[in-house]
Amino acid sequence: MAAIHSKGTKPEIIVRRWLWSHGYRYRLNVKSVPGKPDIVMRRFRTAIFVNGCFWHGHGVAKPQIDNGELIIDNSECCKIPKTNREFWIKKISRNMERDQENYRTLQENGWHCIVIWECQLKPKFLEHTMQQVELQLNHNFLSLYQRKSVPYTEPEEEYLKAAEREEELTKS
Ligand SMILES: [Zn+2]
Repeated sequence: MAAIHSKGTKPEIIVRRWLWSHGYRYRLNVKSVPGKPDIVMRRFRTAIFVNGCFWHGHGVAKPQIDNGELIIDNSECCKIPKTNREFWIKKISRNMERDQENYRTLQENGWHCIVIWECQLKPKFLEHTMQQVELQLNHNFLSLYQRKSVPYTEPEEEYLKAAEREEELTKS
């Protein structure tokens, strides 16, 4: 994490730069798509989320309720502060819940989600991480193409149409 911050490069910019330099095109922060993914790749029907390990509780097991108390364990890259612990536990577990809801909504509407964690973008992991992303994108594209050979109906959800309109507007 330190390495990334010392360069002053935000994690999602690292991802965008990699994708762009490898020929991928995308749209940013499409507000009409649930969860406002950092990167939207319509061609692959894929939403990419670049998540900060602390705020999104990377590696943290689903919070448990024990005797009316919310229990959450630290992970390697998400260490909950000791002061105000209860506040942080609530905040981070809410974020985790919201993330899951967003992924579910997207998936139910035929979108693929890719989650990239900040810690996976450290220089020594970056290439490997992005190769995995690329594999996933190819896989998503293939499944989309295969699905199209059976009668394919475009999801009609309002926000998808809105996303398309938004795209049309920026094109013209
Ligand atoms: Zn992490």
